[in-house]
Amino acid sequence: MNVSLEDAHGRTIGDLRVSVTDRCNFRCHYCMPAEGMPWIDRGEILTYAEIERLVRIFVALGVADVRLTGGEPLVRRELPSLVARLAAIDGLEDLSLTTNGYLLAGQAEGLVAAGIDRVNVSIDSLARARFFEVTRRDALDRVLAGLEAIAAFPAVRPIKVNAVPMPGFGEDDVLRFCELARERRFQVRFIEFMPLDGGRAWRSEDVLSGAEVQAMIERIHPLRERPREPHATARVFEFADGEGEIGFINPVSEPFCADCNRLRLTADGKLRTCLFSLHETDLRGPLRDGADDAELERIIRDAVWRKELKHRIDEPGFRPPARTMSAIGG
Ligand code: SF4
Repeated sequence: MNVSLEDAHGRTIGDLRVSVTDRCNFRCHYCMPAEGMPWIDRGEILTYAEIERLVRIFVALGVADVRLTGGEPLVRRELPSLVARLAAIDGLEDLSLTTNGYLLAGQAEGLVAAGIDRVNVSIDSLARARFFEVTRRDALDRVLAGLEAIAAFPAVRPIKVNAVPMPGFGEDDVLRFCELARERRFQVRFIEFMPLDGGRAWRSEDVLSGAEVQAMIERIHPLRERPREPHATARVFEFADGEGEIGFINPVSEPFCADCNRLRLTADGKLRTCLFSLHETDLRGPLRDGADDAELERIIRDAVWRKELKHRIDEPGFRPPARTMSAIGG
């Protein structure tokens, strides 16, 4: 029996992003409006037992990397108990988490004890006023405390810091992030703004491209590119003087779809074969209707076979998905 999960373009799936909630305690401009989004009813959200069962099936189909996302995953109660369930699954090699860091200081120890391997923290500015402007939360200090709290656990490496440069993001912001990468050895990655915002305000002219940010950095710090890892989303560079790493995730200016090995499971149990999918496959319904693992596997295989070749941002007729970033997860 072929255990790998393949699409019609010859790509093998190995990475699953699991959104555990669509709720968040921040209101980032590039993600949702100030008033938030209409949240998914709690009854429609997968339980931890349901997530565990689905992840077991995906792992049996060759998925080795699982990332927990949101909304903001740490707002979901007892998240370490889910981490412990997933960390116990044979064949799951890398279990990571993407968080805005606000609740991280209080949960770092529990997450590490439960088995988390890596953590990505989203921080869009290291200047307090600008951080507030982007996230609509005066929370930079608390987020940095969360970053330091997880950094205290040497087993959790690498620690990555993700920043979305929005209009007004300038050289001083970039240089602050360079210092963070050089002094604290966090891998800082700049992610291009994508058309997944709840306010539907995305315009391509608002995208600060990876190349533009790289040029800002190289005016001060020469960089040297690392060889690209298979399926990687980021182009990773080291500072030429060897003091740390910087990455660029350029889905708009330099799409990396050709060897994409990623799937997403939404908090309400929908399988998304691409971040920009216009269609979803319901797994929660069959699961709650008593489907056995073989039936769920058949549904997953069928959906994956039809995985999109690539996104079509900036192509004629491009339509953003109905579901926005906060309900898809990173
Ligand atoms: S846009 Fe879709 S196909 Fe491209 S890398 Fe992202 S998930 Fe993969």
